Amino acid sequence: MARTDVMVLGAGIVGTSTALQLAKRGLSVALIDRRGPGEETSYGNAGVIGGAGVYPMAFPNDFRALLGIAFKRSPLANYHLMFLPKVAPWLLAFRAASKPEKLVETARIMRPLLACALGEHEVLLRESGAERYLHKDGWISIHRSDRGLAALEPELELGATLGVRARKLDAEAARALEPSLNPVFRHAIHWPDIASVSNPLAVTRAYAARFAALGGVVVKGDARSLHRADGSWRVETGEGPVDAGQAVIALGPWAPDVLEPLGIRLPLAVKRGYHRHFRPRGNAGLTRPVVDPENGYALAPMEQGIRLTTGAEFADRDAPPTPVQIERVMPAAENLFPLGKPVEEQPWLGSRPCFADSRPVVGRAPGRPGLWLCYGHGHYGLTLGPITGRLIAEMMTGATPVMDPAPFSAERFG
Ligand SMILES: Cc1cc2nc3c(=O)[nH]c(=O)nc-3n(C[C@H](O)[C@H](O)[C@H](O)COP(=O)(O)OP(=O)(O)OC[C@H]3O[C@@H](n4cnc5c(N)ncnc54)[C@H](O)[C@@H]3O)c2cc1C
Repeated sequence: MARTDVMVLGAGIVGTSTALQLAKRGLSVALIDRRGPGEETSYGNAGVIGGAGVYPMAFPNDFRALLGIAFKRSPLANYHLMFLPKVAPWLLAFRAASKPEKLVETARIMRPLLACALGEHEVLLRESGAERYLHKDGWISIHRSDRGLAALEPELELGATLGVRARKLDAEAARALEPSLNPVFRHAIHWPDIASVSNPLAVTRAYAARFAALGGVVVKGDARSLHRADGSWRVETGEGPVDAGQAVIALGPWAPDVLEPLGIRLPLAVKRGYHRHFRPRGNAGLTRPVVDPENGYALAPMEQGIRLTTGAEFADRDAPPTPVQIERVMPAAENLFPLGKPVEEQPWLGSRPCFADSRPVVGRAPGRPGLWLCYGHGHYGLTLGPITGRLIAEMMTGATPVMDPAPFSAERFG
């Protein structure tokens, strides 16, 4: 029987960062996962640190875009028909949260977290000896039409008031930054304050190694065995039971598997997403991620190759992969950048854990003393892992939190 101050369940970027932040504050911590750190959703993202822009991801408000999605022609989203009734309440809530005034409200609420995100990663990367993965060249969004750029104007205006820098470029200026891009777009925006990492898995592993160096224990175990025993939280692991006074649920898309049996039902959905690596043709290359929002994909330079990532797929988390979005985006992606042969046989599939209001839950679990929640980071889990880990570690140790945690409380769902 092992006993620690805290057990953190889930060793994605969120749980690993949380465990590290707690260990840095002197607590004894067990980090428990059924796999190795960073091997699930946190493996496959686009590596962008800083959020995609100013607004959160939104439900499409354009009838043509919706029609394209409905008829399964659009690369922006895909869905499994049989899953729609199950996800319908969540989609309605997401649509309500995508009204222009709500997007502004969410952007303002999320800004303090996003503004601190890179700084917090830099601290952990330095302490973990993993700075080589960090690239501070910003990222570029390309816009093929004047309409595409015009649609971004309200977001850019809000960004200017919130201190988010965005440089408008024409195609020639963008190609001066990324010469391998073909001039198939009219406009681009360079977001200079956004950073990226060239291997998200290696970053999570480096944070886990740093955690272990501080005395933290990484254990294989099934979080679904969480229960109360002798006044503590207990989980069965490959190395016997682990007991702790406090437990943090950082299971990302799997959090409901543990919380629902405990009577905690928060409205989480998953937006599945795919990636595939390609070798660049000839001497082509990218120095920073590039997103083509009108066509629903990003291209990110990774150690494994150019990683092409897709938008949202609404389907059961555990349903077999249906990577049609990769096929749908390929013509636009190949026309923008000289993609060569794919690296893997099959695309990778991951599930973004999303609340409809695009905010994570960070704080106490309602009605369960000693149980804490840190999940639902949606499109920005890589970005927000270290800063939300810090926020919850400060709350758990009674320190003054780096920002007001109230907007991220589970109580907002009533
Ligand atoms: C295609 C794509 C692109 C993305 N791009 C970006 C980006 O550029 N920037 C960004 O910031 N974010 C991005 N994201 C989002 C980001 O990847 C996620 O928000 C983040 O990885 C979630 O991290 P997590 O730690 O909450 O979840 P995970 O990484 O999924 O970790 C959860 C852990 O729980 C473990 N687990 C599950 N069940 C059990 C159990 N029963 N017992 C024990 N352990 C269990 C799993 O093994 C896993 O390790 C992207 C996501 C996708 C899919």
